[in-house]
Amino acid sequence: MPATIPGIHHVTCITGDVQKCVDFYVSVLGLRFVKKSINQDLPDTYHIYFADYLGTPGTVMTFFGWPTWPSRRTGSGQVTTVSFGVPERSLDFWSKRLQKMGVESSRKSRFDKDLVVLQDPDGIELELVGHATDERWVPWEDAPVDQDHAIRSFHSVTLTLAETAATFALLTNTMGFRKSGEEGNTTRFETGSGGPHSIVDVVESPEGPVGEESVGTVHHVAWRTPDASEQMAWRDLLVRAGRNVTPVIDRWYFKSVYFREPGGVLFEIATDGPGFTIDEAPEELGTTLSLPPWFQVRRDQLDDFLTPIAVPTTATTGASAMREENRGR
Ligand code: ZN
Repeated sequence: MPATIPGIHHVTCITGDVQKCVDFYVSVLGLRFVKKSINQDLPDTYHIYFADYLGTPGTVMTFFGWPTWPSRRTGSGQVTTVSFGVPERSLDFWSKRLQKMGVESSRKSRFDKDLVVLQDPDGIELELVGHATDERWVPWEDAPVDQDHAIRSFHSVTLTLAETAATFALLTNTMGFRKSGEEGNTTRFETGSGGPHSIVDVVESPEGPVGEESVGTVHHVAWRTPDASEQMAWRDLLVRAGRNVTPVIDRWYFKSVYFREPGGVLFEIATDGPGFTIDEAPEELGTTLSLPPWFQVRRDQLDDFLTPIAVPTTATTGASAMREENRGR
């Protein structure tokens, strides 16, 4: 048996406008732009990564930039909400910040935790849940959001499924998750030591609609595994459980295997290492077009082809001014 999955590694979504996406995740949510790379399967398109200072697994929100793709509907068979953890006392700060920046949001609560709901520029539903831990988070000192209130990591993902029984069985019998709650049509599962970044909420929605892989949807969620041998053990176990799992694919920053869970959501199991500092120093993360060695021959061509991205800096986001203001509160 492989070791328990500690939690979410990364979540990958599809954006139709890379620049707007970067502006939002850096300037509004305060995540660091840690890697500018390409989609290895569609190498004339971007794959961009937002995270904590180092790109710690469990903090990494990534996007394929597919501007020519249609924007269709989110629905069953997909991750329909991506939730980040922020300190419980920070929810008022976030509501005010979002309002000031012209981003609509509302408040609700789920499983006794208060949260802020909003949408990103592509219409992906996000939550800031007042339930976070600093355990693995590496703060970005130049962030436009004060460290007291900054996003710590993912809190959870929500899967919406037409049928849940087979997914529940896979999560609990094979993948090592345990059921930890039920609220209306939502069932909560946790893995590892539980809490932020280890939670998956499953919403049963037999009426549909069925989601379509398009701009403004989540492409997949990746779960953590420490290393390649554990990953191979997971692969064997999942194949034995009847899943159709890809061979191990080297993503350069981590190794990956992919499979669809029975409800249709694309799952990945990704190794914690080697991580984003494999080809850029920590202070340089996200500043160059980073390519795996086997794509280096195409660098000139890609540099010409890909639309440049302007990453907001401390100066453009007014980070120090915002920090002053927070301090006075
Ligand atoms: Zn992935």
